[in-house]
Amino acid sequence: MDSGVLMLASRILERYPLCDRCLGRFFAGLGMGLSNFERGRSVKVLMAMELHGGASKDPQALRDKIYLYSLNAGEPFSSLYRHIYGLDPPKPSPCYVCGGKVESIIADWVKRVGESLRAMGFRRFILGVRPPEGSSEAEEEIAREFSLQHWESIKNDLKREIGKGVSRSYGFEPDFSDPEIMLILDISRGSIEAVIPSLIVSSRVVKLVRGVSFKKRPGKRSLEDIVERVAEDLGEGVRISIPVRDTSRYRILGDGFYSILEIRSPKPGRRSLEAISSAINRKQDIYIIDIIGKGRRKDIEDLANRVKRITYRIYIYSSKKLGDIEMEKLKSQSPITLEQRTPKRIVERGGAERIYKGDLKIEAIQRISEKTFEIIASTSSKIYIEETITGDEGRTSPSLSSILSTDLKPLEIDVIRIEL
Ligand SMILES: [Zn+2]
Repeated sequence: MDSGVLMLASRILERYPLCDRCLGRFFAGLGMGLSNFERGRSVKVLMAMELHGGASKDPQALRDKIYLYSLNAGEPFSSLYRHIYGLDPPKPSPCYVCGGKVESIIADWVKRVGESLRAMGFRRFILGVRPPEGSSEAEEEIAREFSLQHWESIKNDLKREIGKGVSRSYGFEPDFSDPEIMLILDISRGSIEAVIPSLIVSSRVVKLVRGVSFKKRPGKRSLEDIVERVAEDLGEGVRISIPVRDTSRYRILGDGFYSILEIRSPKPGRRSLEAISSAINRKQDIYIIDIIGKGRRKDIEDLANRVKRITYRIYIYSSKKLGDIEMEKLKSQSPITLEQRTPKRIVERGGAERIYKGDLKIEAIQRISEKTFEIIASTSSKIYIEETITGDEGRTSPSLSSILSTDLKPLEIDVIRIEL
């Protein structure tokens, strides 16, 4: 045999019994548009043709060889042996890699996967395969022994062939970038494990009301709960991650928060951004969620580090009457450099004590009545805004209260801008 592939295949088959597909897989990188079954079959056919040619000149010289190939490779060598020597060929040995089971494995698992997907209602899938026990070791042994360059693993072959079969017979599509479900097939155990990837989108969230937090909290209202309820046809388990502290007392206005919205167990067929957007925005009096695009969980961690300043609109009540002089005083002291110990209300709930340094920049101030006024002010994302107003019994110093020597109380706080 003078061809490289045929020479190599002959040497392999002299040592190891291999079925068509497992032989073809050792040459998977050669020849396009072929299955490994076709590769292996073609190699065996060509080898048999060469041997037939040689044996018609000198049958006895090739007898042992044709016998050995009949034993290790079955057809078409078995028929050739019977034809030339008029004797029964030996019973072929089981394939060294798959035990002769690979074709039935593919056929069986196409059916199992197809039926499972149909039963669950999912259409776009990816497969993971744990190949039959011992098969990967066997093929690696052969590839190493013959220094093979173009071989493919049985794991890949099974994954692709079962996927193709499911697509052909059931019309479901393998989808590597956005699957609805991942099925992990354990061939030896005969089990299928289904993993439904969560659906993650990046979004901007405007929160129009107070008294609702983003994250779920026992006994409290949260956007996560509300979104989960209004969008129950999308799936279960809604998580909304935001890059700043989750405070139910504030409205989030302006452009809203950049956030990552995750549906942990999405239902089949509901992954388009339009479907998600119209489902979650049914409750427009509480929030508006603009879907920006597909997201990754990692995005939210990155973003938290990028938030620099937050601008608030704060409506403030004073226990003492205030006039224009006091308004001027606050304005003239801006930006107010301050030091803040973790607020008492946080420490009382078990929060760790820290000291934060920052500044409060008053961008606008307006007196509303003798005891109320409104400011637009920005500060770093670490600073707790309420305590810059109240002073928190001296734990934040100075504060607007200490500067004006009065007790100030924020009545309403809105976030109106986040600088990244
Ligand atoms: Zn095999």
